[in-house]
Amino acid sequence: MATDFSKKNIEEILCTSALNKLKRKIPYGWDLNIYRGCSHNCKYCYAIYSHEFLGEQDFSKVFVKTNIAEQLDKELSSPKWNRDIINIGGVSDSYQTVEEEMKIMPEVLKVLIKHKTPAIISTKSNLILRDYYLIAELSKLTYVNIASTITTLNEEDRKKIEPDSSTSLERFKLLKEFRKTNASVGLHTMPIIPYITDSYLNIESLCLEAKRSNVHYMLPGVLYLRGATRKVFFKFIKEQYSEKYENIKELYKTGGADKSYKEKLYNGIVNPLREKYRISNSYLKPLKEKMHKN
Ligand code: SF4
Repeated sequence: MATDFSKKNIEEILCTSALNKLKRKIPYGWDLNIYRGCSHNCKYCYAIYSHEFLGEQDFSKVFVKTNIAEQLDKELSSPKWNRDIINIGGVSDSYQTVEEEMKIMPEVLKVLIKHKTPAIISTKSNLILRDYYLIAELSKLTYVNIASTITTLNEEDRKKIEPDSSTSLERFKLLKEFRKTNASVGLHTMPIIPYITDSYLNIESLCLEAKRSNVHYMLPGVLYLRGATRKVFFKFIKEQYSEKYENIKELYKTGGADKSYKEKLYNGIVNPLREKYRISNSYLKPLKEKMHKN
């Protein structure tokens, strides 16, 4: 995996709580982030704003919560813990480059196994395959969902848009591998970037690979831009896709693309292709089945 990540950009910190309770269940009630900041460098990253909110401008600067597994064990040992689903990596990828060295995810997974706690893990890195057996073990005990966001099969675009992630084919391969476990597996085609990754050809190639990987579901979503993300994204478009700049700017007068664009995309391309390849859009189905059994 290509990376210019340097040790200078890492700061070790201690956390006082491992879990963050969400205001509403969506369908998970808790978030766990080992890292703050992310080295994958995706140009549409929604999490940039949360970093700025914490007073840190440079999203590639990564804070590592070195005691998070120990802290998680304390929290899950509480008699009040009711084995709710934990979403791992909502605002930073738990398998970003630094994890190769820090090896915190295996410790977190061991704690989840100990407490039979269900989890959703989303990543754009095939480093997750390092923890294959731990995840497989957890998936035998409870609900586990492995998801990967994959936006394009055009490697030239992928290198520009998500420069420091695994390639799209590597990500499909990891989904295929986890499909052999008891975990449910999902493809997140989000964000679909207007005029760049929204072609019939691109969406069809994603559906085709999703079918080959036998994913349980595919979840599409159109680009949304707000705050710091908007600034970073438009700067990137101006530099790398200058010929598309005006059209995208026109479409994004507000945070989201307009209704007619979305209708054309979903009704004309995404839904017919999903149906053609018989890919479900329900991530809740495997969740309900598994949580019901436990
Ligand atoms: S992997 Fe996620 S958190 Fe990391 S840069 Fe990309 S969008 Fe942001």
